[in-house]
Amino acid sequence: MKIFKNKLELKDFLSKQKKEGKSIGFVPTMGALHEGHLSLVRKAKEKNDISVVSIFVNPTQFDNEEDLLKYPKTFDNDVKLLESVNCDVLFFPSVEEIYKDNIVSNNFNFDGLEHQMEGKFRDGHFDGVGTIVKALFEIVEPNIAYFGKKDFQQLQIIKKLVKKYKIPVKIKGCVIYREDDGLAMSSRNARLTKEHRKTAPFVYKTLKKAKKKFGIKNANELTEWVKKQFKKQVLLELEYFTIADEKTLETATVIESNKKYRAFIAVFAGEIRLIDNIRLK
Ligand code: AMP
Repeated sequence: MKIFKNKLELKDFLSKQKKEGKSIGFVPTMGALHEGHLSLVRKAKEKNDISVVSIFVNPTQFDNEEDLLKYPKTFDNDVKLLESVNCDVLFFPSVEEIYKDNIVSNNFNFDGLEHQMEGKFRDGHFDGVGTIVKALFEIVEPNIAYFGKKDFQQLQIIKKLVKKYKIPVKIKGCVIYREDDGLAMSSRNARLTKEHRKTAPFVYKTLKKAKKKFGIKNANELTEWVKKQFKKQVLLELEYFTIADEKTLETATVIESNKKYRAFIAVFAGEIRLIDNIRLK
């Protein structure tokens, strides 16, 4: 695997590959890699000649300084994992390489997608995401970029970003990888205390139960039911549960048969914020 820290060197290398007619599959990450990330790399390898992964803990998408400082960093292990799936290229830039000395976001209008759910609770988060993903797309110029449905709102926002800015890249949404007990894989899981880790699968269990009840209970009743379940769980604090239209991400009050819905959840397990979602029938 080739490792680049310098964007011009990476650009130069990739443009040579493209001139030879090779296609590029790209997986942006913040490192501390797990099976969920590797599943995206495998997809990128399946459909493209060259797989590129970036590892960059993007400061502008964090609204919580401590979360940024404590974000897990496991570079040596990440390299091993990427080599185990035969990743071709790793881009590992410094903050200066990406932002020079001006660590700020651009402002984006994602037609309201950015004001729902995560947007309500993480100030400026999607401006940060938009800024870094646009910058990375300009450097890598991938044919296809792969994102996990674990961050479903982010996936919809990236699709909007490439449409609005006419960035010639195809965006692929990929399934959520879970631990055996159902907890959605996340780099932040490593920071859970033993007790919180034990309790955390309750999040997905509740989502699955909510899915079963969808259609029997209406959206409002279901939301109240979920809130009640979390009140019984002293170790977990529900931040939001919402049933939303997959396209607009707006909270659904009335369910229409021609629309697709998903349940979205954010929960604090001690200091660690967990998010998850599930497709509803
Ligand atoms: P992150 O490193 O958390 O920024 O994630 C990088 C990419 O991996 C994003 O597209 C995430 O949605 C995706 N991802 C993270 N966790 C999972 C998971 N459990 N299953 C599938 N994709 C994931």
